Order: sequence, then C-alpha cells, then structure tokens
Amino acid sequence: MDVKTELPDDLPVSTMIRWIADKYDMSKADFSRMFQTTQSTIHYWMKTDRISYKNLKKVRASYYYLHNTTDPHARERKCEDCEKWRPVDQYRDGKAICRSCENKKTLQHYWENREEELKRRKAKNWYNKKAN
Ligand SMILES: [Zn+2]
Repeated sequence: MDVKTELPDDLPVSTMIRWIADKYDMSKADFSRMFQTTQSTIHYWMKTDRISYKNLKKVRASYYYLHNTTDPHARERKCEDCEKWRPVDQYRDGKAICRSCENKKTLQHYWENREEELKRRKAKNWYNKKAN
C-alpha cells in the first residue's frame, strides 16, 4: 500500500526554517542572504514566529520547493482575525484581515455604538424628565 505522508499546510515559520537549516546545514547568515534580510530578522522569526506576509510567502515557497512540491496556500493569505486561508483578492490593500472579518467588525462596531448611543439618550431623557 502506498501511504503518502501529507505535508502540513500551515507550519510556524520557525519550524520551516529549522527544517531547512537541519537538512541543508544552513546558518542564520545563509538565511539572511537567501531571504534578503538581516540575521536579527531571522532570529526574530525563530523566536516569535512572527513574520510579514511577504516574507512568509518566501519562506513557504522555499520550504515546499525543498519538499518537491508547491505552497498549497501560494495564492492565499491567512487572516489575522478568523485565521482562515483566504484568496488574496479577499483582502483590501495592506489589510491583514479578510473582507468578511472587516465587515463583521464594522457591523459589530455599529451595534456596540448603537447600544451606547441608546443608553446615553435614555439617561438624558431621564435626567430631563427629572428636571421638569
Ligand atoms: Zn477573516
């Protein structure tokens, strides 16, 4: 039976870098040249798993390429709010959260403020009644 091990589709950047480092005996200096950044940036990725979308795409491209495959989310971006991979056209320029999360937030904001506004108005009416 041919059991194909599925490659995880969403690994932390530190895991991918460590795998590449072990397999190809690469140092932080190598990575900084490979990804055209500084060694302290590489160090930051390893320590925090925080990385820009643009750099994550580069790391993922290398990681999946070295596994003889392509990034399963190459045309997608992970939403920082719902944490779902969504096609890049689901994001407005420069936004890290998808349009549906943005819309949800706008609506939520509207309702929260609406409650506040109603409370304020009620309090004011009550005060006015008292004063009369
Ligand atoms: Zn989202």
